Amino acid sequence: MEHSISHKLFQEASLHIPGGVNSPVRAFRSVGGEPPFIVRAKGAFVYDADGNEYIDYVGSWGPAILGHACPEVLTALYEAMKKGLSFGAPTPSEVALAEKVKEIIPSIEKIRFVSSGTEATMSAIRVARGFTKRDKIIKFDGCYHGHADYLLVKAGSGAQTLGVPDSAGVPASFTEHTLVAIYNDIESVKEIVQKFPKQIASVILEPVIGNMGCILPQASFLKELRRLCDEEGIVLIFDEVMTGFRVALKGAQSLYDIVPDLTCFGKIIGGGLPVGAYGGRAEIMDCVAPLGPVYQAGTLSGNPLAMAVGLKTLELLQKKGQYEALEVKGQALERGFKAVAEQHGVALTFNRIGSMFSFFFTDRPVRNADDARTANKELFNSVFHKMLEKGVYLAPSSFEAGFISLSHTLDDIQKTIRTFDEALKESLIKN
Ligand code: PMP
Repeated sequence: MEHSISHKLFQEASLHIPGGVNSPVRAFRSVGGEPPFIVRAKGAFVYDADGNEYIDYVGSWGPAILGHACPEVLTALYEAMKKGLSFGAPTPSEVALAEKVKEIIPSIEKIRFVSSGTEATMSAIRVARGFTKRDKIIKFDGCYHGHADYLLVKAGSGAQTLGVPDSAGVPASFTEHTLVAIYNDIESVKEIVQKFPKQIASVILEPVIGNMGCILPQASFLKELRRLCDEEGIVLIFDEVMTGFRVALKGAQSLYDIVPDLTCFGKIIGGGLPVGAYGGRAEIMDCVAPLGPVYQAGTLSGNPLAMAVGLKTLELLQKKGQYEALEVKGQALERGFKAVAEQHGVALTFNRIGSMFSFFFTDRPVRNADDARTANKELFNSVFHKMLEKGVYLAPSSFEAGFISLSHTLDDIQKTIRTFDEALKESLIKN
């Protein structure tokens, strides 16, 4: 594959933008090498500046569940655009999207739209603290909740990828109220709760982790977490920025039958435009300004273009059979990858829930961040690059989840499996 134009663009970008990118994982530091510069995308494919075509499993890191540039979504965007880009005043489209989210997800009684997942989690935690009048929060090793100062503790992929557990520029005092537990280990949560009785405002987690690769919860873990939060008056926040409308229409909370107090959304809810949201129990959400004392605001919050795109995306996802179709594709990919690994005598753990997946070169189950860290990163990196060169674009880090869209065909999946086979074979010879 030719990459000279992307190479030149990366050099230029690096002169102007730190590391040449506007979000760190895109720079390929974890896997090495340089990123292709993408100029357009359609359906299941992205195209780079040198004209190379890739089957895309990044999906803009989650939003592109319908596939890229879905015609109905583009029409909705164009219709909204013609009326103006942003008014900084209430619009009917905010009401429409709020109603749609409430119709789909029963735990949402009230919702506030923001512009990113980071804002959603940050704001949800602020509300939880305001509501409970407590300061401390519990998060889990390997869960990423955006880049608010006090959440950059054991935060999964981005920080993991850079090899820095925490970020510089965050005063120690800012993270003093952030307590870290082990995912899928309820005892680790109980210990913290016992140590700080009636001081924990919130437990926040990705109900299915996507930022340490894809890691599934044990059903009892989520149930016990819910019970513990009820007993202690702790606000349970599900960060469904990645899993919302992805692992099921109604999110991970429907699959595991848990009603969180608050839920954070991002990615799919904006269909590819910058949107985040947080919502849940009315009693808690009514603490938000202007109704209540918890301040939270945004110039572009509820932007009409983003609302229109989000609404159309959710409407299309509500069509019958969409998640069944995603499951069929996911199963095919999982089956194929496992068969290939077995054929080559390579230990592989494939974690998947619907159209969200990741694979780890390890012989143990991956149930938490430490398990994920045992995987063979060198082999992943080699396979990643070989697949990229052959036209399959996986997320450029072994600690990221992959996403299948409704536009991926079973032929695309089969081609991906054949590519994995070739890439693994070549990587094993090299090693
Ligand atoms: N929460 C989760 C679970 C995420 O995966 C992400 C982003 N990958 C965020 C929060 C932050 O969202 P954003 O990048 O839109 O700020």
